[in-house]
Amino acid sequence: MNKNYGIAIWGDNNFIIKNSTVNINYKSEPSLLEITQNVREKGYKGPLLLRFPHLIKKQISTLYNEFNRAKKEFEYKGKFQAVFPLKVNQFPNFVNSLMEVSKEFNYGLEAGSKAELLIAITHTPIGAPITVNGFKDKEMISLCFIASQMGHNITLTIEGLGEIETIIEVNKEFNQGKEKIITPKIGVRIRLHSSGIGVWAKSGGYSSKFGLSSTELLEAYDLIKKHNLLQQFWMVHFHIGSQMSEIAPLKKALREAGNIYADLKNRGAFALNTVNIGGGLAVEYSQQKENKEVNYSLKEFANDVVFVMKEISKNKNIEEPDIFTESGRFIASSHSVLIAPVLELFSQDYHEKSLRLKEQNPPLITELNDLWISLNRSNAREYLHDALDHMESLLTLFDLGYIDLEDRSNTEILVNLIIKKSILLLNNEATKELKKLQNKIQERYLVNFSVFQSLPDFWGLQQHFPMMPIDKLDIKATNPATIWDITCDSDGEIPFDSNAPLYLHDVDVTKDEYFLAFFLTGAYQEVLGMKHNLFTHPTEVTIQFDEKNLYYIENLTESKNIMDVLDEINYDKNHIDTKLKNLIEESTIINKQEKRELQNRLNFYLSENSYLKTIQSNES
Ligand SMILES: *Cc1c(COP(=O)(O)O)cnc(C)c1O
Repeated sequence: MNKNYGIAIWGDNNFIIKNSTVNINYKSEPSLLEITQNVREKGYKGPLLLRFPHLIKKQISTLYNEFNRAKKEFEYKGKFQAVFPLKVNQFPNFVNSLMEVSKEFNYGLEAGSKAELLIAITHTPIGAPITVNGFKDKEMISLCFIASQMGHNITLTIEGLGEIETIIEVNKEFNQGKEKIITPKIGVRIRLHSSGIGVWAKSGGYSSKFGLSSTELLEAYDLIKKHNLLQQFWMVHFHIGSQMSEIAPLKKALREAGNIYADLKNRGAFALNTVNIGGGLAVEYSQQKENKEVNYSLKEFANDVVFVMKEISKNKNIEEPDIFTESGRFIASSHSVLIAPVLELFSQDYHEKSLRLKEQNPPLITELNDLWISLNRSNAREYLHDALDHMESLLTLFDLGYIDLEDRSNTEILVNLIIKKSILLLNNEATKELKKLQNKIQERYLVNFSVFQSLPDFWGLQQHFPMMPIDKLDIKATNPATIWDITCDSDGEIPFDSNAPLYLHDVDVTKDEYFLAFFLTGAYQEVLGMKHNLFTHPTEVTIQFDEKNLYYIENLTESKNIMDVLDEINYDKNHIDTKLKNLIEESTIINKQEKRELQNRLNFYLSENSYLKTIQSNES
């Protein structure tokens, strides 16, 4: 990995390294660093979430273009349609951009709860599809009827037989005695025996939470027919799980679903014309080619879907169905980048400047110092072994009381410096021994963000997210790095992993700002983010580009201030405010003037958000 942090593997040409910085590969190509500094100059010092609508647009148009290309290639007659599943990202600054950039595609939204349904009804253009999945009660089904009467193109995906009964009941309430009957369209979620692959594969398979079995499907068909709703029944739907790392399970599921579709059609479901293949299209998160997560391209994915549907249609003698997708991760993940400032490095004490060499040192220390000074490429391995050997002896001497704490500290520093330099010199020989040693010399970077809030899938599922510094990329980074977040929880850590090593720069953050960027955080992370330790969603901005190709900042939304955080978990803000005032007022150890000053200071702090600004005392 090193200098370019695997950007060619996960970056999808969205970013480029220019001189020392990572830049947006679009229009005037601003660097992440200049955007970050621009926002920080306005006074926002914590972690920062940058959103890039042009990357949402890129994903949506790539999806449509690839499917339309495949259709052409295979002379496929069905249409292609898509919706965005809101559970992947419901934040308004994302959804508004999504709808803005997708206007030309008749792109819609998928909802899985009442609140998401309200977003879908108010943000999808009339005519673009809305699909409603998940468990529904009568109220939720009624909301869908209301949407259909507004003119929305809305589909209820039936997850269980009970839902059909409710639809029939609600239909009576809305339409009985009316001349013109307006109802939502109906889809059916089928339970496949094919399941996906990986940690998110539970959405498919016989034991899946969702969908109708073959027996239930036949009953559902009869019910729909009996109540004259066949006219509305236009879609079968399946979803075999997110982040499908391999293509094989999809092909299997497609064959299964395609045959179910064809049989229902031949049975008499005359309005049926669409197969909804759900989501699951995977994203490459890896920074090393040995660790790649995805074994197919979007091109292959689209080809397979179109080809399998074409084949089944031919065999079963039916019209080629429209293809409908609900890909979320693929659309949203690349659009946001989290930038987090490094606050401190722990183990800077292993710096040359911390050495306390004496006039007269123990002979082994003098020798260590000589090794360090004369270390070069040809002797590195030998000297490294000598140094490790000396360290053992010196630590024993310390235990026996022959050398003092200063000698011991010199030992640690010198050996650390020797290991670091040897690894650098022996760069091309990544032996097991060297890999192991990296664990010994790793640096801990304290970073101003919360893993729980901003990378919950790393915390819960060890999902890797690409990370790299946004500056100094002209200098080779040599510190094996462990990332510590600012929560008081030992799980708030991204440990150094010798199979997927991260190297960062040796920096003095009291003199020089240093920022890390975490990429592909746009799918699932935001709403799954936990307020552990009461750290909330970071300050966010949307980055747009004007006609002159220059970038500008929109939708600046600051992280919640401390009082609002408490309010959100139902503390009484006024009560806390009054209590603080009283505590100052009633203090018997300060005078009136001091009380007034204290109150002013406190008011200022209460209006701030809860992330750290810096941990040095000389800055405000
Ligand atoms: C979660 C979900 C999706 C989105 O899956 P991705 O892997 O993010 O594309 C699509 N459809 C349904 C029914 C889902 O539950």
